[in-house]
Amino acid sequence: MTRVKILDKEFETSISEATILESINEVAKRVNHDLKDENPLMLCVLNGAFMFAADLMKAVTIPCQISFVKVASYNGTSSTGSVKQLIGLNEDIKGRSIVLVEDIIDTGVTIKGLKEQVVAMGAKDVRVATLLFKPESCMSGIKPEYIGLTIPNDFIVGYGLDYDGYGRNLRDIYTLVK
Ligand code: 5GP
Ligand code: MG
Repeated sequence: MTRVKILDKEFETSISEATILESINEVAKRVNHDLKDENPLMLCVLNGAFMFAADLMKAVTIPCQISFVKVASYNGTSSTGSVKQLIGLNEDIKGRSIVLVEDIIDTGVTIKGLKEQVVAMGAKDVRVATLLFKPESCMSGIKPEYIGLTIPNDFIVGYGLDYDGYGRNLRDIYTLVK
């Protein structure tokens, strides 16, 4: 196991780059099969999903497009608290098949909010592809169509995911050492 120190915390390797890439190939195979006549628009949710989206796109062989969006969090006045708003989408998505490309789903709150907004904008079909899924903490009832790897409820960095902005450039995934 390799250890790295990022700011004040220690992390150790938990998922190798080879395992990540294998899981992405499996996701891509299913996307190629399920959406071959759909001309899907992949929506990469920045920042964390940039690396996953790049490797997924290299393995997707059907006609498709990609665009990049961000999630802006702000505190709503309602009792639900934090609201996630989709920004940066300039394409007309009416009647289109959309694949939301996420790095990780934890509580599912983020992806649930995004999915609702994309549906409200008139998409024909909205699917979720996430590299990582933490099922223990997924309270929102969201069930992603495509999951790369299911992981325990620990904090991870690497392969696009950060700790305070650092660690995104690590090729493997690392878990916080408690
Ligand atoms: P959710 O709304 O599903 O609870 O949160 C999803 C977002 O939380 C992800 O897009 C990611 O930004 C962040 N997140 C959740 N778990 C982790 C983790 O283990 N490591 C990192 N770096 N970010 C995480
Ligand atoms: Mg994310």
